[in-house]
Amino acid sequence: MAALINGKEIAQRVRESVRAETEDFKARTGVTPGLAVILVGDDPASKIYVGNKKKACIEAGFNSFEHILPASTTQEELIRLVERLNADPSVHGILCQLPLPKHLSSRDVIAAISPKKDVDAFHPQNVGKIMIGDYDFLPCTPAGVMELIHSAGISVEGKRCTVVGRSDIVGKPMAMLLLHENGTVTVCHSRTKNLAEECRSADILVAAVGKAKLITGDMIKEGAVVIDVGMNRDENGKLCGDVDFATAEPKASYITPVPGGVGPMTVAMLMKNTLTAAKLFAGEEK
Ligand code: NDP
Repeated sequence: MAALINGKEIAQRVRESVRAETEDFKARTGVTPGLAVILVGDDPASKIYVGNKKKACIEAGFNSFEHILPASTTQEELIRLVERLNADPSVHGILCQLPLPKHLSSRDVIAAISPKKDVDAFHPQNVGKIMIGDYDFLPCTPAGVMELIHSAGISVEGKRCTVVGRSDIVGKPMAMLLLHENGTVTVCHSRTKNLAEECRSADILVAAVGKAKLITGDMIKEGAVVIDVGMNRDENGKLCGDVDFATAEPKASYITPVPGGVGPMTVAMLMKNTLTAAKLFAGEEK
């Protein structure tokens, strides 16, 4: 039977430490960290995520600035808002909630965000810095996964790590962070020939696909660490991961549940990045 890695508890600890550090930082510098979140359109899931981020900001002692724009917003209007936020000294972090409506280019919007305020770490400059291991921010979800792995006392060094999914925001940076910690990393995707075999070779398996219960127990090595990033709805509309928990759990040594695993870590790491951005703004070390 696997030990559960409790993301809810670990995220709460991270948020509490950010809150305490923020209190000191504000007293020391007179600067209140500020996070601006841009939401375009009315995607219901995005609205929930933005609401959670606002709540977390308030709890951390940050200023939270919400910019809710209609789905008809043009690229020029969105870029103009980003430029205004780039120049605003009370804003230290800027986040544009994805996905954007189809007529807008998320790539161009991300590139317009000042790299110093890019608390999602999606800007090409920050992506490059992560690649060479010299960065101010890490993307929140992969950073949250590493925090879960560390909290469970698991060492990545020398382990075979398989990441399923190669998106720019989860899979690719995830693979890079495992590589930085000396894992031997395989990245799988939709064209991978034998996914089951690639997964079965993993000591640490990270699933970031977006397909409910794609990874089943027979694809998991006895004693593997299984991290499930996926957030899907099952046939009954219940939230579930990319891993079939019921068959995977008896094989794994550690496993993250969905909900309550990686999900809460993403917001916690966003708070950490926003505090880092404010510290750098105030001329402090991160
Ligand atoms: P994307 O859709 O951008 O990427 C999915 C990746 O999975 C792609 O690389 C794709 O391959 C690969 N893939 C698709 N089907 C298969 C398959 N059958 N076998 C192997 N690989 C496959 O998704 P994201 O990376 O944005 O998100 C992944 C999941 O993580 C989603 O469920 C999302 O909701 C969740 N998520 C959770 C977060 C959290 O806070 N917990 C935060 C962000 C995401 P290819 O490149 O070839 O198309």
